[in-house]
Amino acid sequence: MTGITLLNPANETVLLAVEHSTVEQVDQAVAHAVAVQRKWAALAPAERAAGLRRFARAVEDDLENLARLEVANSGHPISQARWEAGHVRDVLDYYAAAPERMIGKQIPVAGGLDVTFLEPLGVVGVIVPWNFPMTIASWGFAPALAAGNAVVLKPAEWTPLTAIRLGELALDAGLPTGLFQVLPGRGEVVGERFVTHPDVRKIVFTGSTTVGKRVMAGCAAQVKAVTLELGGKSANVVFADSDLERAAALAPSAVFENAGQDCCARSRILVERSVFDKFLGLLEPAVKAVRVGSPDLEDTEMGPLVSAAHLAKVRSYVPDDSQVAFRGSAPDGAGYWFPPTVLLPGSRTDRAVTEEIFGPVVTVLPFDDEADAIALANASEYGLSGSIWTRDVGRAIRVSRGIESGNLSVNSHSSVRYSTPFGGFKHSGLGRELGPDAAAAFTETKNVFISTD
Ligand code: NAD
Repeated sequence: MTGITLLNPANETVLLAVEHSTVEQVDQAVAHAVAVQRKWAALAPAERAAGLRRFARAVEDDLENLARLEVANSGHPISQARWEAGHVRDVLDYYAAAPERMIGKQIPVAGGLDVTFLEPLGVVGVIVPWNFPMTIASWGFAPALAAGNAVVLKPAEWTPLTAIRLGELALDAGLPTGLFQVLPGRGEVVGERFVTHPDVRKIVFTGSTTVGKRVMAGCAAQVKAVTLELGGKSANVVFADSDLERAAALAPSAVFENAGQDCCARSRILVERSVFDKFLGLLEPAVKAVRVGSPDLEDTEMGPLVSAAHLAKVRSYVPDDSQVAFRGSAPDGAGYWFPPTVLLPGSRTDRAVTEEIFGPVVTVLPFDDEADAIALANASEYGLSGSIWTRDVGRAIRVSRGIESGNLSVNSHSSVRYSTPFGGFKHSGLGRELGPDAAAAFTETKNVFISTD
């Protein structure tokens, strides 16, 4: 057997071993999915909707169990993990409304009737990273199923447990066997096979930009549809006219939530030069107040990093000669702990400023004026998220339009709602997930002309 032994990242104890799927198992799963998908697509839309609603109720009934699995497997604080499981339920409920609303068009033409149909693609392959294992999976599988597709899902190697459980819950909810299959395994084996298998008609990939480019190239070889949700290095832009106290109080959660392992982390704080020192003075107590500790505790705000390998990567961005402004706390002893860390980089091109660290490390840089703020925010290959703090409505709109990013928030750090579109500019991705149009992204438009002659 090939597989992985999972460790609890908070204390390094062994959780369990998970077997990895082989290429042959993927091929069997896809063959099964092809057959089941045809029957699923042929069901009355209301029946598919009812199936997704039952799936949502099964998730709701299992919410505490799902949350506890994520705490143990990924080190997410329990309050956050409960939110994640609830979010999966909400995504299912939201897309349960879609099967009865897959509405085509009737287009005026001469000599007949012209209508469009939104046809399902067939089998969709969803490849998920380790940072938000169940929520990101649901952004792919819920709208894909709603649109009449079957789904094969590959969780990340380190964090398969909630995805495996969701596969069981789909069956408990009465979805047909083979409609939604979870295949734990290695990216180079299971993920690659999703990409190369001719019967997988779309890939939804969330992960690093390096692997995303490879997935896209593989999809190109088969003219296969692909959605990419990739890395980020988002800016939190604080103007002098903003509510500085509030901007500073909320800045830590915008970057240290999920221990910074968040593609939307506002990991570059850009502050107007005239209030730079004042802002740092307000930020320091907020960073020191972040409650870092056992993810099992109700009031913990930040847990450990996901693995020893990832801890080593994050550490490499804070060498001994780093200009650390201040740090929060972290437990000693077993577990992959790293304290919230605020850096004052020497230049705008430091590695810590330009590369995605994916850990609890934030850089703070000054800017001179609005144009400089936009230029600095855009000085990144990424463009996923970001925040703008100002009381000037015109400036908020100008800067929102000026920053090359898919998801911006003004005077807040919100970025992911299931009812609004989510995705990146530039190297942060291709296509959009969530929101009212996501189910349509799992269809092909078919145009049919019916002659009246
Ligand atoms: P990763 O690219 O290493 O892995 C992502 C997934 O791809 C895993 O399931 C992995 O097994 C699989 N994979 C690896 N090689 C593959 C291959 N050759 N073919 C097909 N699949 C393959 O990323 P990660 O380290 O798991 O996740 C962290 C990255 O994900 C960060 O860059 C982060 O910004 C990004 N991310 C983006 C979003 C977003 O919505 N934009 C959300 C979360 C995470």
